[in-house]
Amino acid sequence: MSCSEERRAAIQLGCIADDFTGATDLANNLVRAGMRVVQAMGVPTQPLDSDADAVVVALKSRTLPVAEAVTQSLAALSWLRAQGAQQIYFKYCSTFDSTAHGNIGPVTEVLMDALDTDFSIATPAFPDNLRTVFKGHLFVGDVLLNESGMQNHPLTPMTDANLVRVLQRQCQRRVGLIDYKVVAQGEAAIRDRIAELRAQGIGLAVVDAISNADLMRLGPALKGMPLVTAGSGVAIGLPGNFGITPSITASALPPAAGLQAVVSGSCSLATNRQVLAFIQAGLPARSIDPFQVAAGTDVVTQVLAWAKPLLNQAPVMIYSSAESDAVKAVQARLGVEAAGAMLERTLAAIALGLVELGVRQLVLAGGETSGACVQALNIRQMKIGPQIDPGVPWCHAQSDVAGPTGLHLTLKSGNFGSDDFFVKAFARLA
Ligand code: ADP
Repeated sequence: MSCSEERRAAIQLGCIADDFTGATDLANNLVRAGMRVVQAMGVPTQPLDSDADAVVVALKSRTLPVAEAVTQSLAALSWLRAQGAQQIYFKYCSTFDSTAHGNIGPVTEVLMDALDTDFSIATPAFPDNLRTVFKGHLFVGDVLLNESGMQNHPLTPMTDANLVRVLQRQCQRRVGLIDYKVVAQGEAAIRDRIAELRAQGIGLAVVDAISNADLMRLGPALKGMPLVTAGSGVAIGLPGNFGITPSITASALPPAAGLQAVVSGSCSLATNRQVLAFIQAGLPARSIDPFQVAAGTDVVTQVLAWAKPLLNQAPVMIYSSAESDAVKAVQARLGVEAAGAMLERTLAAIALGLVELGVRQLVLAGGETSGACVQALNIRQMKIGPQIDPGVPWCHAQSDVAGPTGLHLTLKSGNFGSDDFFVKAFARLA
């Protein structure tokens, strides 16, 4: 091999996630199981520039038209294979968010074709977050998926908890089940069941899992399977197949320094409690009034001027988070999408301004909000670090704005995290 062809060690697990905060959730589980993980925002255009055991390519393909989701997923696959990935993990939501047409089924099948494999599994089970699969039926906490509120989701209403049926409607291949009795017997029984299903011409199997022990029994049976499709739960049982064991070195990040800030555009119940807890802790907080932004007031300049002298003393929080009545009033006047996009732009400009003021530890709350902020900061890759709360790790990224040391950031999706998340996050990093 010539010098120019020399590359970093090949990655082991290549992951494709159908949304942004879901990608971080998967990465977090892999790190906890001992893998060094990099998350890429979209399909990278360059080879990987750091050492990692796994890479998670974060797409926003969950509700795209099927053809676009397929194209993006194949592009991610081809980049991951070029980095040497031995196994591919297609990650979707633990509530199996999809429409009657996809995108879970079509993306899975096109990945199977590209990998030239005739069998894969599908399970969104994530017992740590109370998602369990029993007899092929998905439970969210104590209730079936179709009674969990997900039946009313605006984009991906889930009206059937029987995942074998749901997936079959999206697939050409026949879909079967590996049930809890087989999973309970462990690797050999699971492998026998897979052989049996393949002999029957079945190409995909939903797998029951009602505990982490089930996922740990499933893991070894997936060794060598070219494609695994799942929520983030299955990830806890895979690193062992590559000889990797849990280790705190997997989550090591460069030392944190610099000023601290929280930017929150999530209006989820958990975030609203976290905003309140930050204020009650006596820390400086400033809210954004959507109507002022809409009226053309330069809120970004005002907020940054307010933050500048305070940042040297304590973390500051800037938020548009609000209770549902206030959000509805804003949406009624400005339109749901227009209000969302306007506030995402505003908060992203504020996040950028804060980093220009020296913030190097940044907590971002809200899936869409953090997506907009990460884009404004021109962040393409993040190394995944220690977990703050389930599904939410600290990360480290390079950004032109942050200079040579880069910055630490965490992307908290709406309903994740304990009430004191915004306060304890900085302590965790210290
Ligand atoms: P979550 O992860 O909680 O769903 P997101 O950031 O994904 O949070 O979504 C929240 C959406 O609500 C964003 O588009 C954001 O701009 C918008 N938003 C934030 N604050 C308000 C508000 N006060 N009124 C109306 N919409 C808001």
